[in-house]
Amino acid sequence: MTDAAPQPVFLKDYTPFGFLVDQVELNVHLHPTATRVRAKIAFRPNPAARDRRFFLHGEDLTLISAAIDGTPVTPEITPEGLSCPVPEAPFTWEAEVEIAPAENTALEGLYMSNGMYCTQCEAEGFRKITFYPDRPDVMAPFRVRIDGDLPVLLSNGNPVAQGAGWAEWNDPWPKPSYLFALVAGELVATSDRFTTSEGREVALNVWVRPADQGKADYALDSLIRSMKWDEEVYGRAYDLDVFNIVAVDDFNMGAMENKGLNVFNSRYVLASPETATDRDYENIERIIAHEYFHNWTGDRITCRDWFQLSLKEGLTVFRDSQFSADMRSAAVKRIEDVMTLRARQFREDNGPLAHPVRPESYAEINNFYTATVYEKGAEVIGMVRRLVGPEGYAKALDLYFARHDGQACTIEDWLQVFEEATGRDLTRFKRWYSQAGTPRVKVTEDFKDGTYTLHLEQKTPPTPGQDEKLPQVIPLALGLLSPNGDEVLPTTVIELTEARQEAVFEGLAAKPVPSLLRGFSAPVILERDSTPEERAFLLAHDTDPFNKWEAGRSLAREVLIAMVTEDAAPAPAWLDALAAVVRDEALDPAFRALALRLPGEDELAEALADRGAVPDPLAIHAARERAKTAVARHLDPLWAGLYAQMACPGPYSPGAADAGRRALRLAALGYMARLDGGARAQAHFSAADNMTDEIGALSVLLETGGADEALDRFARRWGHDRLVMDKWFGLQATLAAPERAVAVTRALTEHADFTWKNPNRFRAVIGGFSANAAGFHDASGAGYDLVADWLIRLDAVNPQTAARMSTAFETWARYDEGRREKAQAALERIAAREGLSRDMGEMVGRLLAAGRIAA
Ligand SMILES: [Zn+2]
Repeated sequence: MTDAAPQPVFLKDYTPFGFLVDQVELNVHLHPTATRVRAKIAFRPNPAARDRRFFLHGEDLTLISAAIDGTPVTPEITPEGLSCPVPEAPFTWEAEVEIAPAENTALEGLYMSNGMYCTQCEAEGFRKITFYPDRPDVMAPFRVRIDGDLPVLLSNGNPVAQGAGWAEWNDPWPKPSYLFALVAGELVATSDRFTTSEGREVALNVWVRPADQGKADYALDSLIRSMKWDEEVYGRAYDLDVFNIVAVDDFNMGAMENKGLNVFNSRYVLASPETATDRDYENIERIIAHEYFHNWTGDRITCRDWFQLSLKEGLTVFRDSQFSADMRSAAVKRIEDVMTLRARQFREDNGPLAHPVRPESYAEINNFYTATVYEKGAEVIGMVRRLVGPEGYAKALDLYFARHDGQACTIEDWLQVFEEATGRDLTRFKRWYSQAGTPRVKVTEDFKDGTYTLHLEQKTPPTPGQDEKLPQVIPLALGLLSPNGDEVLPTTVIELTEARQEAVFEGLAAKPVPSLLRGFSAPVILERDSTPEERAFLLAHDTDPFNKWEAGRSLAREVLIAMVTEDAAPAPAWLDALAAVVRDEALDPAFRALALRLPGEDELAEALADRGAVPDPLAIHAARERAKTAVARHLDPLWAGLYAQMACPGPYSPGAADAGRRALRLAALGYMARLDGGARAQAHFSAADNMTDEIGALSVLLETGGADEALDRFARRWGHDRLVMDKWFGLQATLAAPERAVAVTRALTEHADFTWKNPNRFRAVIGGFSANAAGFHDASGAGYDLVADWLIRLDAVNPQTAARMSTAFETWARYDEGRREKAQAALERIAAREGLSRDMGEMVGRLLAAGRIAA
């Protein structure tokens, strides 16, 4: 059945479950096609609930038997679950079901990956394991026995006992079912110990398949640093005797914070210098920290319902950003976070999929694991911290942990602790959780008799379902520079709360140059008329590293837009300013490498659409190519010196300092290739002794042509390593020249190693191609058709990943009529499929509805 408009669930309809769960006992007897799960669950009536209907979620389960207090019962079963009359007093529910993990290609619930069993239960996967009130506000201690003829049998909590073919685990901390996990397989551990600040001895293990042994050291090291950091910065210690991490090859998400047993996509665990890039190491460090930090912000304190997802995700992303900033360069981390925010969240906020940080309805919750809930949610917490100060923040967090430990909470609970701890009224601030869209702050100014006045106007554009917007509370950090480059006003935070307001600065000798939104103090778009000279001035003199970068970035954006719309030559002022930054040895190499990265094609298309133009993907691509060649020529005298100077002495280290040097060196290599035909890049590729250099040089060759031989050598060398080959697949799809991109991607999908049911491989190729803006938006519509075909195919086996990849079409309405017609036809073709999943039905419906309005 085609169901393009699946039934939504609403936040306002929340009611508590009629029963509490005192204890869950699970007995899982593993078999690839006939796993038996016996559940014994102690229920009692919930005094806080009025509705006493006994409904347990359950999908794709074969019920073998059910009993209440030992008496067999015959429940009424639907595709969503079962209901049954139950006593008015505490009772014990027992049920045995059969499931087939080997046939579970959706990778939700219990499934198999390369011979190992594993689970993914967030958000609603536990209902595919047994009948249960599968909602986050039902928390219970779990005791689990696993039977299976595999050497390693893991579940949540502490080990109780084990023997040949069985193991028992006990998790004393009450948890919702989405945090349940079970892993069984032939696995080897990299291990260490950690003594918590409370004196608890914890055994740490990172489990991988035997072939991957030796690649878990960095993950383990990251875990230990995360544990220490959370004790020092948040006062949070770990609370079980073991902490297990398992790497799994087939995984829909990045990683999952199951209590005491984190399950990871293997790409965020496995690393060696030869196979992982600097970026991979950084991601491993960040994601290990993220999942570990969830132990308090997510596990001990969880969400009342899935509308509150940002309560755990926004906060935990904010915490992992703080951690990364402490481990590495805070300035570079901030710039990279903002680049990601703009590329993913601003794009989402400005398109058909815009939704508030706390959505008010959904048809499929898996579709709301979004940049808005995660990254914008983290920005909102950063703003709270800026408004109440670090001490107020620390006080509020202490209160949050003390008051809500063991509870399933809401955004209201979260804001309440800030109001109580700091005395600040956050009523208006709460709009950040309910109002979608990126606020625009328009700035004009005047200067008279030593008084400088900023006139600030804010407006949030309409988003689907939300036409009228109210003003937001916006902490605007700013500084003022005198015309000679001195800072006359150090960073000061002013709070915007009204649609229009003014900020007045007196006693200035000359009209200052403002440095606005320092550190990107709020997730807004600043609109202010500026000149290339002023931007170059800020790039040279701003003391705020974020705004220094921002000045260069906006300068580059303006230059590129002029190149697209007016066929202008690249502005010499920009090239000179860029040269000055690259030459400045006082600047962190990582910062200089970022400054050399030009705004992406999608960012330029967005900027053009924002000005009312219809972006032409090919013209944007061509202008960007011309700009790169102009940079290469203008800075030609610098490259060779930089390339030599940035070589890292000594063996490979993934630390920030060396990674920054490699990034700058590879940036130089990329520009040099535009002048020397790629000769140096070929040599760099051949001499590389680590993956960062190897893949970096390969990317350069792919961009400038002449990569064929290197691609073959790479594939011969790494054909056995699936994670490395994901890079090989992904790069070709992303970097293919526009006119060849569809053909290259189609050929990749016909490659014998295109194991498309593996989410990483699918994302590498189809996601990589979607990121190739000029290729995907090919005027023929062939790019849309290619992606639509594969989304349809994947949807039948893995709806969650397929639906997520449909965001490729997020921007279709901004293009010309010909492209819009073809994109719409591709989307309509998906929508019309028989048996389309709820996930994909909801996504395509939203993409089409809002796009049609815009068109
Ligand atoms: Zn998370």
